[in-house]
Amino acid sequence: MPLPTTSLTSGASVPVLGQGTWKMGERRERFAEEVAALRLGIELGMTLIDTAEMYASGGAERVVGEAIAGRRDDVFIVSKVLPSNASRAATIRACEASLSRLGTERIDLYLLHWRGGVPLAETVEAFETLKSSGKIGDWGVSNFDVEDMEELMALTAGSAVAANQVLYHLGARGIDLDLLPWQRKRGIPLMAYSPLGEGDLARNSRLAAVAERHAATPAQVALAWTLRGDGVIAIPKASRAEHVRDNRAAADLRLTAEDIAEIDAAFPPPHRKKPLEMI
Ligand code: NAP
Repeated sequence: MPLPTTSLTSGASVPVLGQGTWKMGERRERFAEEVAALRLGIELGMTLIDTAEMYASGGAERVVGEAIAGRRDDVFIVSKVLPSNASRAATIRACEASLSRLGTERIDLYLLHWRGGVPLAETVEAFETLKSSGKIGDWGVSNFDVEDMEELMALTAGSAVAANQVLYHLGARGIDLDLLPWQRKRGIPLMAYSPLGEGDLARNSRLAAVAERHAATPAQVALAWTLRGDGVIAIPKASRAEHVRDNRAAADLRLTAEDIAEIDAAFPPPHRKKPLEMI
């Protein structure tokens, strides 16, 4: 069964389940396994791959470059510029360096990794230049809370933002109260990073109880929970083949009202606004 898809604000269609790459490319002896994991994920339909210039100082982009060699048209590449590189000229240079490491002529979605000292308008201008030259397809942001998004949307071309990537998992669900409904109302997809709580949720006993009813794993329950509503794209990172397969199957898991109630009891929904969490 093909993975369900969602649309970016530009209309581009992407699968709701992709693959993360943080901590890939750090060790030469793991390179082949990481490339193989990403390739398996692509074969299983998780064709959206999230990376960043920051990860392993470009090493993760090199892993992605190897994994997508010969299959560029099958994948949707997301990468990110560091805030320290987000000025008008440095953004262009950073993007070109990422393109070279990725071995491609286009990044499909290019994100500002988090807000830094450079005025947002300047970064947006650089993103629009990159878009006009075809070096990126769309641009977006990461680690932006509601106020940051409002500031962005008020800028010329700010409403072209294609997605916002933020921390979202059962142990960090503050955005259920504000940012997630805010983005849904405006049709701006939310990319959920660390959807497995960096692996902790895969070992959670409360999720294991829910998983047992579905002959599933706690990791699959955590991912299915993240994907329970519209407009969310989850990007778990897996460098082991069995984890990649497990994650792909999570998209087919439907949680019942009983499951959701049990999960809410273990991981209570937010009642009060909290600042956006990030790692
Ligand atoms: P994560 O995806 O929540 O968890 C990754 C960990 O879970 C790895 O140790 C992985 O092990 C393990 N795992 C994966 N699938 C599993 C399964 N089915 N069962 C058991 N364990 C499993 O954490 P993350 O890497 O922090 O987040 C995902 C991606 O989001 C990142 O890789 C990155 O692309 C992005 N991200 C973005 C930001 C940002 O600021 N924008 C910040 C953090 C992360 P193995 O690798 O051994 O398979």
